[in-house]
Amino acid sequence: MAPPRKLHIKSYGCQMNVYDAQRMVDVLTPEGFVETANVDDADLVILNTCHIREKASEKVYSELGRLRLARDEAAQSGRRMQIAVAGCVAQAEGEEIVRRAPVVDVVVGPQSYHHLPQLLARADAQGRALETEFPVEDKFGFLPQPAPATIRARGISAFVTVQEGCDKFCTFCVVPYTRGAEVSRPVAAILADVERLADNGVREITLIGQNVNAYHGDGPDGRAWTLGRLLQRLAAVPGIVRLRYSTSHPNDVDDDLIAAHRDLPALMPFVHLPVQSGSDRILAAMNRKHSAADYRRVIDRFRAVQPQIAFSSDFIVGFPGETELDFAATLALVTQIGYAGAYSFKYSPRPGTPAAEMPEMVPAAVMDERLERLQQLIDAQQSAFNKAAIGQTVDVLFERAGRKPGQIVGRTAYLQPAHVFPGDFLGPGMSPDALVGQVLPVRIDSLERYSLLGELAATPPQHARPLAATGA
Ligand code: SAM
Ligand code: SF4
Repeated sequence: MAPPRKLHIKSYGCQMNVYDAQRMVDVLTPEGFVETANVDDADLVILNTCHIREKASEKVYSELGRLRLARDEAAQSGRRMQIAVAGCVAQAEGEEIVRRAPVVDVVVGPQSYHHLPQLLARADAQGRALETEFPVEDKFGFLPQPAPATIRARGISAFVTVQEGCDKFCTFCVVPYTRGAEVSRPVAAILADVERLADNGVREITLIGQNVNAYHGDGPDGRAWTLGRLLQRLAAVPGIVRLRYSTSHPNDVDDDLIAAHRDLPALMPFVHLPVQSGSDRILAAMNRKHSAADYRRVIDRFRAVQPQIAFSSDFIVGFPGETELDFAATLALVTQIGYAGAYSFKYSPRPGTPAAEMPEMVPAAVMDERLERLQQLIDAQQSAFNKAAIGQTVDVLFERAGRKPGQIVGRTAYLQPAHVFPGDFLGPGMSPDALVGQVLPVRIDSLERYSLLGELAATPPQHARPLAATGA
C-alpha cells in the first residue's frame, strides 16, 4: 500500500471557506491524503483564498512566493510538492494566477473543488490544470461524507452550507461574480447532513450562506422552504442544542425567521445583520435597496419577539463619495442600535464591480481616521456588552479543555468564550472533558480581554448527570 500523502490547507476569509476547506479534506481523504499542520512536510498545499478585499488577495501572492521556496527545498530532498489555489481569488483571477505564479499546479474555483482528484491527475499529465467554470451539476451531490471519527475530531460545533452565491449585486462586492448565482440546497440533503453530524457528537450547527436568509430550498412537501421553516425542522433533530445562521441580508428577514426566534429555544439570540452604512445616500449608491430606517425596523421586529437578542454587523467606511455627514449617519446608527460587536472595513475597490468605476474615492488618510473612530465606538459597545455579563448566570455550551490544567472552555449564546474550572462539580476521577457538548449554567465573575471567567452554577442540571457519569 502506498504511504499516505500529506495535505496542508490554508484558508483565508469567511466561514464558508472554513467549511469548504473541510469538504476538500473529505474529497481528498479517499485519495490517500492525510492532513498535516506543517506546510513544509506537505505533498499538496492548497491555498483556499478570499477576494473580498485587495489585501486578502495580495496575501495569496506573497504566500505563493514563500511556497516556491518550500517547494524548491522539498525538491532538493527528492520530494514533490504540488500547489493548488482554490476559493474566490482562483475564481476571479484564474488565468492571472497561472501567469503570475508558475509554481501553481492547480487552480480551482469554489464551485468545482469536488473535481480536485481529477484536476491533480490532469496537472500530473499536462503540467497544470485550471477549472473555474460553474459546473451544471451540484457539487454537494459529489462530496463524500466525512467519517464519524473525522466529525468527532472536528468538535461539537459545525458549519453546514445551505445556500451559496448571491443575486443582490451590491456595487462594492465580488461575491456574485466569484460564487455565482444564488442556489439553495434541498431540505432533505441538509437534514441528512445535520442528523449525521448530531449522531457523531455535534451539538451546535451554524447554517451558512453568502445570503443565508434568502434560503428557498425544496422541501419534502414539494414547496420551497424558508430559512425559518428549515430552522424549525432542524431544531427537532435529537442532539442539536444550538442553531445559528450567517450571513443575513436585512431585506430577506421574513415572518418565518422572526417566528423562529420567537418559538425556538435552540435558535441563539445573536444575529449577524450587516448594514454597511447608516447613510441613505450611500446605501443607495451601494445598491443595498434599503434605508437606515428600514434596517432599524428589521432590528425592532427581532427585538419585539426576543428581548434577549443581540446583533453584530459589517460596515464599510470610505465608500466612494462618502462625506463626513454620511459617516456621521453611520456613527449615529451604531449608537442607536447598540451592537454586541461588529466588523468594519475600509472600502477596497474590486475589479469588475460598479463601485470600482465610481469617482470621488475617499482619500486613504480620511478612511483611516473614520475607521479608527468607528472601531472605537464599536469596541466600547462590545466591551459594555461583555461587562454586562458579569454577575449574571448564563448558559455555556462547552467545547474543549482549556489551556490550563483542569479548565474547560465554552461559548455563551453570544459566542463569548467562557472559561471555567469545574473542580468539585465533577465526580471523583472525572476529567473536565466529560462536560464537552453539554450546556450548563455558569455564573460570570470577571472579564479577561474578550473572555468571560466564571464558575459552574452550584446545582448541576439533571440532564448533566447521566452524561457526566458515563464520561460521554
Ligand atoms: N452577504 C453579506 C452581506 O450582505 O452583507 C456579506 C458578504 S461579504 C463576504 C462580508 C463583508 O465584507 C461585507 O459585509 C462587507 O462589509 C465587506 N466587503 C465586501 N466587499 C468589500 C469591499 N469591496 N471593500 C470593503 N469591504 C467589503
Ligand atoms: Fe455581497 Fe452580501 Fe451584497 Fe451579496 S448581499 S452582493 S454577498 S454584500
